[in-house]
Amino acid sequence: MTKINYTLKTSEKKLTMNNKREKYIYFFGGGKADGRGVMKDVLGGKGAGLAEMSSIGIPVPPGFTISTEVCRIFYENRKRIPHQTISEIEEYLTKLEKLSRKKFGDPGNPLLVSVRSGAKFSMPGMMDTILNLGLNDMSVQGLSVKTGNPRFAWDAYRRFIQMFSDIVLKIKKEEFEKILETTKQKHKCRSDVELTTQAIKDVVKEYKRLVKRKSKNEFPQSPKSQLFSAINAVFLSWNNPRAVFYRKQYGISDEIGTAVNVQEMVFGNMGENSGTGVGFTRDPASGNNQLYAEYLMNAQGEDVVAGIRTPNHLESLKHDMPELYKQLSKTSKALESHFRDMQDFEFTFEGNTLYILQTRSGKRTGIAAAKIAHDMVKENLITINEAILRIHPEHIEQFLFPIFDPDEKRNFNLLTNGLSASPGAAAGKVAFDSETAVKMSKRGERVVLVRKETSPDDIHGMAVSQGVLTARGGRTSHAAVVGRQMGKVCVVGAEELIVDEEEKHFKSGDSIIKEGDFISIDGFDGDVYSGDIPVISSEVLQVIEGKLRPEQSERYTIFSAILKWADKIRKLGIRTNADTPHDSKIAVNFGAEGIGLCRTEHMFFHEDRIPLMQSMILARTTKEREKLLEKLLPMQKEDFKGIFREMRGFPVTIRLLDPPLHEFLPKREELMVEITVLELKGKKSKKIKERRKLLERVEELHEFNPMLGLRGCRLGILMPEISRMQARAIIEAACEVEQEGIKVIPEIMVPLVGMLTEIKAQKDIIVETAKEVMDKYKGRIKYYVGTMIEVPRAAVVADEIATETDFFSFGTNDLTQMTFAFSRDDAGKFIKAYTEKTVTINGKQVEILKKDPFSTLDVDGVGALIKMAIDNGRKTKPNLKLGICGEHGGDPASIEFCHSVGMNYVSCSPYRVPIARLAAARAALMFNIA
Ligand code: PEP
Ligand code: MG
Repeated sequence: MTKINYTLKTSEKKLTMNNKREKYIYFFGGGKADGRGVMKDVLGGKGAGLAEMSSIGIPVPPGFTISTEVCRIFYENRKRIPHQTISEIEEYLTKLEKLSRKKFGDPGNPLLVSVRSGAKFSMPGMMDTILNLGLNDMSVQGLSVKTGNPRFAWDAYRRFIQMFSDIVLKIKKEEFEKILETTKQKHKCRSDVELTTQAIKDVVKEYKRLVKRKSKNEFPQSPKSQLFSAINAVFLSWNNPRAVFYRKQYGISDEIGTAVNVQEMVFGNMGENSGTGVGFTRDPASGNNQLYAEYLMNAQGEDVVAGIRTPNHLESLKHDMPELYKQLSKTSKALESHFRDMQDFEFTFEGNTLYILQTRSGKRTGIAAAKIAHDMVKENLITINEAILRIHPEHIEQFLFPIFDPDEKRNFNLLTNGLSASPGAAAGKVAFDSETAVKMSKRGERVVLVRKETSPDDIHGMAVSQGVLTARGGRTSHAAVVGRQMGKVCVVGAEELIVDEEEKHFKSGDSIIKEGDFISIDGFDGDVYSGDIPVISSEVLQVIEGKLRPEQSERYTIFSAILKWADKIRKLGIRTNADTPHDSKIAVNFGAEGIGLCRTEHMFFHEDRIPLMQSMILARTTKEREKLLEKLLPMQKEDFKGIFREMRGFPVTIRLLDPPLHEFLPKREELMVEITVLELKGKKSKKIKERRKLLERVEELHEFNPMLGLRGCRLGILMPEISRMQARAIIEAACEVEQEGIKVIPEIMVPLVGMLTEIKAQKDIIVETAKEVMDKYKGRIKYYVGTMIEVPRAAVVADEIATETDFFSFGTNDLTQMTFAFSRDDAGKFIKAYTEKTVTINGKQVEILKKDPFSTLDVDGVGALIKMAIDNGRKTKPNLKLGICGEHGGDPASIEFCHSVGMNYVSCSPYRVPIARLAAARAALMFNIA
């Protein structure tokens, strides 16, 4: 048995607790509350919600909240509840007894309470809760008499023993379930609701025997001892493995701790007229403005969220209990207009008496988050700024998720239809447990996790799956709530499925699907198919690609309205990294205001250009090379013209050739094999000669560390004819497009500069060439010359480099590589281990690396260099234009940094543009708040 300590020994650490008489416990009930809704730090989300509801007259059973500070003290105090808190809890218990007119442990009129966790950030189902606490062999009798419902009283006691033993005494709940199952079989009952009072009494007896056998003690009979043990257990559950995993997943600090709520019980399992449920003031999957609720009659709260039974829908409540339905609708509206956000609330009713047990901002899909925020602005419930702060970049991403191709869908076998709980299209191989899902995913397979119902322990499996399908549970079950939050496609309550997790198959009608078979689940309509259905672009993408008209898609209308609001708020410009007219067009349709990086090397990889490029590289003399470059020039010019036309007057940053030349040549080893094969075949052909010549040049160009070799501006300095050709192509294209009447703003960017002399050498070529071209065209083009800052030295001497540049663009891919000395091509081998391995620093476990610095900018190191470059560069040139074009330009956290250091724009891939627009607006708002 787990030893519970809740008394303070003299040797225990002295706490400064009552020196200042800080408040640690907050009462609520009877239309009043000590705390307020904004005190989530102190009261946790649940406690804050209860306090606020109580003070605005929502029917809430009374109780008190033990603050999160006590949890922190508990852990500092070797996992013991401090002595003073124990006496305070007892005082508040007396207050609760007075208000409820019941007595804790009174055999005739017992006060029963729930003991529930509640951290600042909701962690659905990750921590522990105990209901019906206060029951014992005596008070169960009293409760029977008082309610006139012995069956209910004994069932409550049964549940309490099971929960308490599982959570506090650590006796596996499966052992209790086995007893219950055997009893149901003996009495030929399908559900526990059908068991008689006597049968339940027998179950209680068996449960108590099990407790005695396992814990070597009787089931605790003292309600106070039960209470303190339960509070202890809830504090301990803050650090159970699934809670720790969840916090890591969502970046919630381990330090904040949980509050504990002790609240008078009300009973949804009092009889056929009682029930319990979960409601959302708006639909959490679609965001539609209609009350969404699910409930079970004659049940307790956990039954609904655990997804053990599939609950009833609101329509049946409207029909069966119209008065209660009216109250529920009214309360839902009151909650939403008070909290000014979609609420997820738990309710219980004893006949027509409604109680709200909890309210919090409801978790929602990305699509619902955007729709709700959008609609609430239209309803004047929230401001545009609030809406933008509520819509996260991951939410907007969901608008771009692919959907199943409707034409293809028809050819697949529809297995069943469940409740659509989280949108998107997921196809993958079936796994019936989380471990298998993790294994499959490690093998690189797409997985759909199929469960009878999911429990919070499935969080690992859900994290690696494309989607989740359950046979039971409603849209408010854990599977649905967590799935929505993780952005996983989720279909729940597919009742026709017979899932055999042990045999690893499920049946639907005549079809049997085994582990490893493909299924496809549609989180928009709840359809489940066998097979791997191909997907197509989302509605939004179809509009962007011109395949659908904007007015044909409500989703696009919301998406674009939100991004237009974001545009008015953000300070950062949004550009794109694009090197084809097609990508440029997509980016502009997504709202890009320019090109921040056009990588010219991509243009030379085309089939028809690569031979020319190779000949140019093979050329032995400058003259020969110039001849070949002359042939490449018109091709390159056409590319630029296409891009200038698409960008319609937006600035276009074109970077001169950057990669080492050998990248355009065949691989050395491949060439060697090819030559050997040709030789073995005995062919003394011209081809062997040619290949040998090529190999010779490849050998010459071979570098041990090409990333730090002859690349970037070094190429242009050693072979100025290449830079000259590119500068010509850019300015000629600009002149010709301007002659078509389209405004052009070319920005010519020199890569990998580390010294003033390097940029000067390249700039001289550009300026001279531009002049020649403009003279030839008899026109003037306003063009700019700038550099990438991607070498640490450049950041240090940015004041010098700025003397020769109009703009800096931070190439944070290379800058990260060179700052950390992590090869961007090889770091994959150790980065993951670095983000998982920990060391102890100042008594705290910290990861070697918090995040992959190639995805999210390392503010402390790389960020410091960027800041230095900005400060130094602007000292020389106050109006120096600054942007970022490394991959970080599309990462929301990095965008926040770019805003904070005063960059002018971020540049990212076309499909990240909407995310960057939103992230930039959020950064502006958050920066203002900060
Ligand atoms: C960079 O280094 O950040 C960059 C944008 O250039 P590339 O990725 O082409 O090296
Ligand atoms: Mg680079």
